Amino acid sequence: MDVSLNRIAELLKSAQNIVVTAHVNPDGDSLGSMLALFSVLQSQGKEVRLLLDDKLPGMYDFLPHIKEIVRPLEGEKINADLLVVLDASDIERIGRVKSVTKAPVMNIDHHISNRRFADYLYLDSKASATGEILAELLAVMKHPLNDEIATCLYTAIATDCGFFQYANTSARTLRHAACMVEAGAKPQAISEALERRPLSTFMMLSKALTSIESYHNGQISVMTITRDMVGDDDENTEGFINYARSVTGTEVAILFREVSEKVVRISFRSHRADVSKIASEFGGGGHIRAAGCTVHDVLESAKDMVIRTTTRQLS
Ligand code: 5GP
Ligand code: MN
Repeated sequence: MDVSLNRIAELLKSAQNIVVTAHVNPDGDSLGSMLALFSVLQSQGKEVRLLLDDKLPGMYDFLPHIKEIVRPLEGEKINADLLVVLDASDIERIGRVKSVTKAPVMNIDHHISNRRFADYLYLDSKASATGEILAELLAVMKHPLNDEIATCLYTAIATDCGFFQYANTSARTLRHAACMVEAGAKPQAISEALERRPLSTFMMLSKALTSIESYHNGQISVMTITRDMVGDDDENTEGFINYARSVTGTEVAILFREVSEKVVRISFRSHRADVSKIASEFGGGGHIRAAGCTVHDVLESAKDMVIRTTTRQLS
């Protein structure tokens, strides 16, 4: 059921035990949003559990209370009044957390591909980030900002719009970011924390750059990361795809990351084309200009299939 932000505020107010989660493969928006909401609810004296069914990339360690986020155990059950799902468009995207509690599900999201799985849905696909929606929710709740909340929400907003460079950056995005800076977020410190990567990541980037191939008269740029290019399974490839997207003439960039013999993670970025449609054809989703999916096949056939579908979409 679609609900208003006022209703979201009421539902949060009347719940005491709350589980908060977000999508696997966490990014700045999902983590920043979880931690901002944690700060707010905890200051209201609520019992809040932060669960996420994945490893957390080390680059987000600077976010306040990040260590509160834990991975649910196999078969773990929690008695809660509400399960809040942030920044996830599909219940499958929260992994094990979906079976942790029988509590009603509240979903706050900005993905155009949202599958409307929640009991209470607040979906704003014009928001650049879930963090932007939370900034508006706090205003409705009349909850004051502080530097912790501001750091989390600035990170959420800035990372999802590529630090105010992507097409989803609006005046509204910049206004919210400005409010967060006024409340204590430090843009330079946050950018620096997020840029810093181990040397091995840059070594992998150099291989990923060499892998770039062109299809469909240069309109499709493809980057491939095979298992032998990755030193450590946790290696973070966030942002790599932007290099493929920046190649002159590119309309759609695709990153194929071989996770195991028959699991390939795929990211799409575009300048105009609706890549959420392409990702949806493979069971994924996302936004018009940024989407993703996972294909259970060997790398070569996954590439073949996805490049063919993308070519058809662009023709
Ligand atoms: P990324 O390429 O950075 O992993 O994801 C780009 C966008 O697509 C993000 O907004 C992300 O939430 C969404 N997305 C990525 N993979 C999937 C997926 O497998 N399913 C769905 N529904 N959305 C995805
Ligand atoms: Mn997001």
